[in-house]
Amino acid sequence: MKLRKVTVFATTALVLSLAATACGSSDKDDSGSGSSGGSKIKIGIKFDQPGLGLKQPDGTYAGFDVDVATYVAGQLGYKPAQIEWVETKSADRENALARGDVKFIAATYSINDERKKKVDFAGPYLLAHQDLLVKKDSTIAKATDLNGKNLCSVTGSTSAQNIHDTIAPKANLRENSGYSECIAALQSGAVDAVTTDDSILAGFAAQDKFKGQFKLAGLKLSNENYGIGVKKGDSATVTKINTALEKMVSSGAWKTAVTKNFGPADYKNEPAPKIGDIVK
Ligand code: GLU
Repeated sequence: MKLRKVTVFATTALVLSLAATACGSSDKDDSGSGSSGGSKIKIGIKFDQPGLGLKQPDGTYAGFDVDVATYVAGQLGYKPAQIEWVETKSADRENALARGDVKFIAATYSINDERKKKVDFAGPYLLAHQDLLVKKDSTIAKATDLNGKNLCSVTGSTSAQNIHDTIAPKANLRENSGYSECIAALQSGAVDAVTTDDSILAGFAAQDKFKGQFKLAGLKLSNENYGIGVKKGDSATVTKINTALEKMVSSGAWKTAVTKNFGPADYKNEPAPKIGDIVK
């Protein structure tokens, strides 16, 4: 009888200590509540867009969105080592924010009314334009040349939507989950053109493995105001991110990031937009 009591006590103590361990580890995985401590912040980016958001062979991340996100996270109190990068493909962004998978998204994410029904945006922090990427010897030079042609873009992007709605409804549009698949299709001849933001296309065209093979048409088919997406209703984070973005521009860090990331692609970007200034 006495022995049994001891066993019960020992078991209770073990359960309590396991519970304490579980609690201790849970605060490591904070998706970012503001003040950092030792916690992590999860940030959504693209993994396959050179010059913007790219997972490199050594496992590190590079690009303009990565630099903007790192700067913003710094202003929110997080060191680079506290950032956990999460891939947010074009079609996954709204859901990733709604589920709370990430604290914010910096992933060539255009602000528009449709998306604003589901998420909130800070910014804009860059103005890009939809364009076409074609093979060097292609005769496609304007939107109407796309009629009846095979075109590639990405599901859930404004680029695909704009083609359907206005730019080239008669093109044969194929949609992939990422732009790297579209570029492979262009290289193999499976499609005649790839369409998305000029910022993204310039990055691909400048990659060593594609050098001299492709050209941008140079058409400003739309205005793409890049914002930082946050969960709907999280106005406190929007305000903090806007303050961070303003500081990034006024301190010169924005310009440094532009030169570093767009310089190699020879991408002529627009000047830094003012916060809240959406070009329609
Ligand atoms: N900026 C556009 C968008 O948000 C195209 C690029 C992308 O798919 O991320 O849809």
